[in-house]
Amino acid sequence: MSGLDKNIKEAIQTISNQLYPEMIVFAQKLVQTPSISGTEFDLSALNLAEMEKLGYDEVFRDNHGNVVGLVKGTEPGPTIMYNSHMDHVSPGDAANWEGYDPYGGLIDVCTVDSQNKQPDEAECIHGRGASDVKCGEAVQIYTGGLLVKLREQGFPVKGTFMFAGVVQEEPAEMVGMLHLVDKTFPEKGLDYDAMVSSEATSLKLYCGHRGRVEMLINVYGRTSHGSAPWLGINAIYKAIPLITRIKEELYPGLPTDPELGQASISLNIIECSPGALSIVPDRCMLSLDRRTLPGETAESAMAQIQEIINELAEKDPEFKADVAVKSAEEISYTGLAYNVPKDMDPWKISTEHAFVKAAADALVAVGQTVEYGYWDFGTDASKTCGIDRKPTIGYSPMQEQYAHTPYDKCRTDFMKIALEGNAAIYLNTSQQGPEAFEKVEWK
Ligand SMILES: [Zn+2]
Repeated sequence: MSGLDKNIKEAIQTISNQLYPEMIVFAQKLVQTPSISGTEFDLSALNLAEMEKLGYDEVFRDNHGNVVGLVKGTEPGPTIMYNSHMDHVSPGDAANWEGYDPYGGLIDVCTVDSQNKQPDEAECIHGRGASDVKCGEAVQIYTGGLLVKLREQGFPVKGTFMFAGVVQEEPAEMVGMLHLVDKTFPEKGLDYDAMVSSEATSLKLYCGHRGRVEMLINVYGRTSHGSAPWLGINAIYKAIPLITRIKEELYPGLPTDPELGQASISLNIIECSPGALSIVPDRCMLSLDRRTLPGETAESAMAQIQEIINELAEKDPEFKADVAVKSAEEISYTGLAYNVPKDMDPWKISTEHAFVKAAADALVAVGQTVEYGYWDFGTDASKTCGIDRKPTIGYSPMQEQYAHTPYDKCRTDFMKIALEGNAAIYLNTSQQGPEAFEKVEWK
């Protein structure tokens, strides 16, 4: 049961009615401000200014370009991080946007899915990033603003509300999130006890997703003239039995999770070197997208490939190959560069975990129905729950099916509901005992 009494529930409703029009204008501004990964400065400045305007107790930007705002409670308690990434992917071809400007932030009434993907009509904000994650970001920032007003009205607020806007989520290496949690928090004497992500959930509580490891296999050969292939070892031909084993034996044998689905492996890029028509190639490079389940790691995924390599090498003395996790260099808008592995952990929190139960009770208390879900895609929660094992949930007004598409939009009615839901989740989870902040475990 939630500890939210009638008075506080009425106050949440009244304040959310007051804040709603400003929150929508702010969300439009976010959509109108391009912030492709590595260029989030203008967007971060908007976030800082809005948090100051709303009366946050402390706001700052770290040296990687992430922004943080804190609203301190009237009583001690946990720190709950509301997390949004500030970047977005390219809008793609403007011709596919059906007349909408990807950076217009236009509001109209249009055909849009209901919570359970039935055709519906509702008012929406349109533009790149509306559903991933600018509208949720606006709602999270205004959740802090709502708590400031509750505190002003004399309501007790426990713990610390934290909004964190992170850079560079879309390249999928968590570089902004890793810097924020592992460098900035210790430097500033901050920590967090749980995380609420604004990635699209259609107002459901999302409780996990598969991990993602990008692997590179090199298969080696020896060059010869293309007119005399019998003198060389063709690396592409040598890769064929390996590809077959991955497709026909490894993939079908991967484990399945009842909620997250099957782990998967997909060969998505083949390149060869030297790559000239008159030369038999001495190297074939295979890039694989491996989706993992809790219990699997980059190491275990690579070991499966290594085992196939070893078996093939035993049968064929000419067969030579190796496997590694890919990495990438990412430079933030502040100029900070990191070389990071393309490895994001899987995670799943039980719907019976005390934090999830407290969040669900809070939604019921403000008149919402609770449904659970799991993302198909990956998020920065791979850091908070996958690595740090802190209780993590997704709760957001946006709908997953519009992310990265030219139909990118968010329902404003869902944003209003999410503002109240987020405030209720904060107020109820922050009152819980230590069991709500217990480490998330899996085998
Ligand atoms: Zn995205």
